Amino acid sequence: MLLLTANASLDTSPHIPFDLLYKDLIWRIEKYGRICYQTDARRELVVKALLDDPEFTGPMAADFAEELGPDAEAAIPALRERAEYRAITNFIRERLMKSGHHSVIEHGSISAVVVCDRGVTHEIVRHRLAAYSQESTRYCRYGKDGRSLQFIIPPWCRIEEGEYSIDGLAYPLFSTPGDARWFEAMRVAEYFYLKLLEEGWRPEQARDVLPNSTKTQIAMTYNLREWRHFLRMRASRRAHPQMQPLAIDLLRQLKANFPIFFEDFTIEDDRTVLFSGTIL
Ligand SMILES: Cc1cc2nc3c(=O)[nH]c(=O)nc-3n(C[C@H](O)[C@H](O)[C@H](O)COP(=O)(O)OP(=O)(O)OC[C@H]3O[C@@H](n4cnc5c(N)ncnc54)[C@H](O)[C@@H]3O)c2cc1C
Repeated sequence: MLLLTANASLDTSPHIPFDLLYKDLIWRIEKYGRICYQTDARRELVVKALLDDPEFTGPMAADFAEELGPDAEAAIPALRERAEYRAITNFIRERLMKSGHHSVIEHGSISAVVVCDRGVTHEIVRHRLAAYSQESTRYCRYGKDGRSLQFIIPPWCRIEEGEYSIDGLAYPLFSTPGDARWFEAMRVAEYFYLKLLEEGWRPEQARDVLPNSTKTQIAMTYNLREWRHFLRMRASRRAHPQMQPLAIDLLRQLKANFPIFFEDFTIEDDRTVLFSGTIL
């Protein structure tokens, strides 16, 4: 059997890296938000004002002198791009995020791929405003071609990741009796799952003896508003101890790649996320 730890990562296609996806999201969300207020011309006015403001351009000119050298002309598009970014994100922050006009951010969606156990995915799929694709225990025949069954080590067990043999010849070192009991339960589940397949049960029948710790993989796509709701619920201390670290990890990645939509979440430490915004 192969024992693994859980992990979660945001996902995008190689053709649309995160920086372009973020650019696309903020441009569209600002544009659709401005439809509500009929202020589509306003962005250009803000950009012009920023470009005329030495407090904005001064520090940036210094940056560009470093990045682009003394070629002032080459710096102009980059300076303009930063002014546009400032104008767009100010609008999103002030008019949408802070005011609670969050229906507009439903126009943007982000996907993640999570490797975890089936107990955790059971919690994930309770969130309904979503698209999911999950590894099937009906159609995947675990143990096929001599490949091991895979289980996720609960974070409170101190067992090393790795391949351990079903006949019990390769055992991990256990720190607590609980760790040994969990391992034994996985070993027995694997043994009977494979035995049932050998005796003619189909994977969709034999899966009945697989435990919650069975490894699974799920792709999840939420719109930005649903991500915020999910993180409020699942990155909190009230969340299950296997769910919370995955949610915090996803929050960390969302804050790094899509900052304007998650500014009001603060990750204090591995167990504490503070939220200062609104969820309407
Ligand atoms: C700490 C914790 C403990 C939990 N314990 C249990 C438990 O013991 N038993 C259990 O069964 N579940 C439990 N759950 C799961 C919980 O009941 C929900 O199934 C889960 O949080 C997903 O639903 P949601 O309302 O949060 O929102 P989502 O499905 O993510 O939807 C987001 C929001 O959209 C709106 N929405 C979505 N669907 C509808 C609808 N049909 N009608 C109106 N508004 C809608 C709501 O405003 C909702 O908050 C727990 C969840 C947490 C975080």
